[in-house]
Amino acid sequence: MTSVATSPVRIDQLLAAGHTRSFEFFPPKSDEESATLSATLSDLETLEPSFVSVTYRGGHESRQRTFDLVTHIQRGRLISMAHLICVGHRRAEMRQILENYLACDVVNVMALGGDIPEDPDLVASEFRYALDLVELARDVGEFSIGVAAHPLGHPRSPDRRSDRRHLAEKLRLADFAITQFFFELADWTTLVQELGELDVTKPVLPGIMPVTTLAGVSRMAQMGAAVPAQLVARLETAHAAGGPAAVRAEGVRAASELCEQLLGAGAPGLHFYTLNRSTATREIHESLFGPHGVRRP
Ligand code: FAD
Repeated sequence: MTSVATSPVRIDQLLAAGHTRSFEFFPPKSDEESATLSATLSDLETLEPSFVSVTYRGGHESRQRTFDLVTHIQRGRLISMAHLICVGHRRAEMRQILENYLACDVVNVMALGGDIPEDPDLVASEFRYALDLVELARDVGEFSIGVAAHPLGHPRSPDRRSDRRHLAEKLRLADFAITQFFFELADWTTLVQELGELDVTKPVLPGIMPVTTLAGVSRMAQMGAAVPAQLVARLETAHAAGGPAAVRAEGVRAASELCEQLLGAGAPGLHFYTLNRSTATREIHESLFGPHGVRRP
């Protein structure tokens, strides 16, 4: 019997076929983190996500960690997407990284500007904006390419309008966007509407991250997505009634409600920031899709 070679699955094809459910992980830096991630991956694999993505920092060791995790996942039962950043990369280096991914059947990449580097080894970048990376990935091969979207505007942007224009420009060349986390349906619908006004209708996957502690409220604000006062009040009421466990349950409930609203409003899928833990993601996922990943009627 002759075996038929199958091409690696592309995320743009998955999105064209229907809703996607995806999970984001970061590469572990210690044996303990590796053990946590292994347990999380085994648990979340049973939910049969459409794909999973792996974050990336520019430092030399962290580059290898992302590459190893992405290719390990791709060799298993899941489809993986590699994040790439402009920060700290020369063009020739990035071309080589992209070619290495293609050689390992990794055809899904997320082209990102990158966070400000902490690593003193990082060289000055030959890329300025994520769009430069999208252009290079298009040149190197048949990648399906995602980009970041910031519903409230990127924190470094002078205003939301200019950020939308730059997002529209990179999304014209890319295949889809994934948003920074946010907490209100209108943040996503406004983003999609404003892109539509710029004639861009590519899929925009909402990024979901539940607030599970009161300390998380200020952390999220520092990350550029302030938790709305109404949600903070819900969490505080829960805390007064039942302490940290009740805050967590209320945060998961609020995220599940947002996901329901997003799917009802036509979101092309849901992307969960897992922070390498499975429980909150699993609870939200099960409330939406049941234990076997099937959406309730
Ligand atoms: P860009 O698209 O380059 O935009 C950055 C800023 O430049 C914006 O203000 C934009 O409006 C502006 N801009 C863009 N083009 C132009 C232009 N032509 N002229 C003038 N201004 C312009 N960071 C990591 O380090 N590693 C990760 O793995 C990672 N994963 C992420 C995943 C998701 C889903 C998201 C939403 C973010 C992620 N980030 C990650 C964070 C991201 O790198 C930062 O938010 C970064 O500051 C901006 O990235 P960007 O891709 O939006 O950049």
